[in-house]
Formats: sequence, structure tokens, C-alpha cells
Amino acid sequence: MNINNLKKEDFWRAIILYGLNQATYKIALGHSLMRFSQQGKTKVTMSELAEDFFEMYLKRVEKEKPQSFNEKRRSVMERIIDLYKLGKINRSTAVEQVEKNAFRNVISSFHTVYNQAVPVQFYQRDKDGLILTDHLFEVFSSQNHSILKEELDARWDLLEAAFEMRRNNSQLVNDIRRMYLVNGYKRTDITKNRPVLNGYQNNVCFYCGEVMNGDDVHVDHVIPRQLIHHDEVWNLVMSHGFCNEQKSDSLPSAIYIEKLIKRNEHFVESNHPIKEKLVAQLGNTPKKRRDYVLKVYNDAKIVLGYTWDGIRGYHPETDPFYRTYVRYLNKVD
Ligand SMILES: [Zn+2]
Repeated sequence: MNINNLKKEDFWRAIILYGLNQATYKIALGHSLMRFSQQGKTKVTMSELAEDFFEMYLKRVEKEKPQSFNEKRRSVMERIIDLYKLGKINRSTAVEQVEKNAFRNVISSFHTVYNQAVPVQFYQRDKDGLILTDHLFEVFSSQNHSILKEELDARWDLLEAAFEMRRNNSQLVNDIRRMYLVNGYKRTDITKNRPVLNGYQNNVCFYCGEVMNGDDVHVDHVIPRQLIHHDEVWNLVMSHGFCNEQKSDSLPSAIYIEKLIKRNEHFVESNHPIKEKLVAQLGNTPKKRRDYVLKVYNDAKIVLGYTWDGIRGYHPETDPFYRTYVRYLNKVD
């Protein structure tokens, strides 16, 4: 599969949907780019961008929705809006501060989806601002335009809801963390599970469903290790390095948990040598095993806040772009 077969709007969606966001900046920049391209602007100064950010965040913060994952600290944009609303700074000072302090990371990292630079650039940086590229105009003149806008809004809402949930649950989060920590922290060699796992997966990635070849195959904790602090086999799968990095330390959606439960039951039913281990770890009936996994998953959801592919209807395994992109990155034809 050639990279040229991928549509530009799919690269846009990769940026907006695939990233694990610690704050809402990427989505805000997406909105600004969309708006400027629709006004036919080819060049945007940093102060125009700052105006646009200020207006957007003023509305968002009005609803008192948190804008960052870190529950102890307000983001740069939130702090500027706070000062403005308290009457400590006027509008033009606020906009100046946005220009000076809010953009540093987002402008340089917008086109990076984890460690990979997306091969289509929607703007270029120059000394006074951003030059919008033809790729951007192409994406937003397409018929999908209203879908892309809806995706941006949905993603922003989703992030706010996730950040809020994390805040509201902060005592509960601490309790759950402590409970899992009691079980200790023992790192084992998880690669020894490869033959067992691969016997089931047959060289197909757990997350995207594409064939895995070569060296870049990872053993991954479906429910992140940072929460459960163990390497028990019921929670391990094999995936592409890329898919694993996309997922990073976030939680996959419930679809993958169902898939994991089914995979474990397959091992038990087929009297596989690891059956005994699974029964000891999860329970001696299918219901007990299922309930156990779901309980850990729900605890993880509370602690980690949001799921990897939390956007409506988005699911890497059935998303043709994601699959093509993975194939491209893994150089499989
Ligand atoms: Zn994959």
C-alpha cells in the first residue's frame, strides 16, 4: 500500500483522533485552522491566532470545564482567562499573553502523532506566523467538512468530560491506586509469553487486525501496567509497535476488553497449558473471570480518565485509514 493512496483528510483525522491528549490545545488549533481556511486566508499572524484562541477558550472556560489532564494545575490558557475574568488584565494584554505563552508546544507538535511526523503538513511556520498549505484547503473544501467539524467538537467535549471525571473522582482515584499498589511491583520478562500469545493471534495485531512482520512486534499490557502493576498473562497481547505507541498508557475501548475476555476463554476451553494460570488469576468460572477483568477495567477507567479511541464510532480495527497507515509504517505490501 502506497502512502499516496491515503487521503489528506485522513491525516487530519489522525492528528485529531489518534493522539493521547493531555490538554485541549491541538483541538483548538484544529478549529482555528479550519476557520482561517474557510475565510480564504493563506497566512495567519500569531496575534490573529492568539485572538482566535482567546475567544474560543473564553467560551469553553465559561462552562467551567477543565482543559487539562493535570488536576492540580490549570493550563496556560485557563490561567490567562482567569486573570481576564477577574479584571486583573484587559483583553489586549490577555491576547498578548496567549501569543507569548500558549503556543510553544502546540505549533511544533501538531503534526506529530506520537513519535511519527504525519507526512502531510497543514501549515508551515514562518517568522510572523503560519502559512496555510494547499493540503489544508483541500481537506476543508471537501464534502466531509461538516463531519470534520463535528469530530473536532466531539473530541473537545470528550476531553473535557474525561478531565472532569478525573477531577471529580480524585479521592476515589487515590484509593484505587493504593489498592493496586498493595499487590507490589514486580517486573518480569513479558517477552517469554510471545509463543503462547502468537499461537492465538497468528501474527495478527490485537489492535488493528493487520499482519505483523519483522521486528517491530510488541507484547502489550491491554490494561496499562502503570495501574495494575503486574505482568499476568491474561492482560497481555501482541501488537505492532506503532499501534502500541498509539495506545501508549491509555485504556483501549470496551471492544478490546471483550476481545481479551474472549481470548482468555479460548485458552481455558481449549485446555491450553496456561489454562491453570488463568483460572488461578481470574477465577474458576467464565462469569468470575469476566467480572474480574471488567472490574479491573472499570477501576482503570476511573484512574486513567478516558479511553484511547473514545470518539464515537471510531475503532482502529475497522478504520481503513488506520489499517493502511499501519501497513505503510510497517512497510508491508
Ligand atoms: Zn496494529
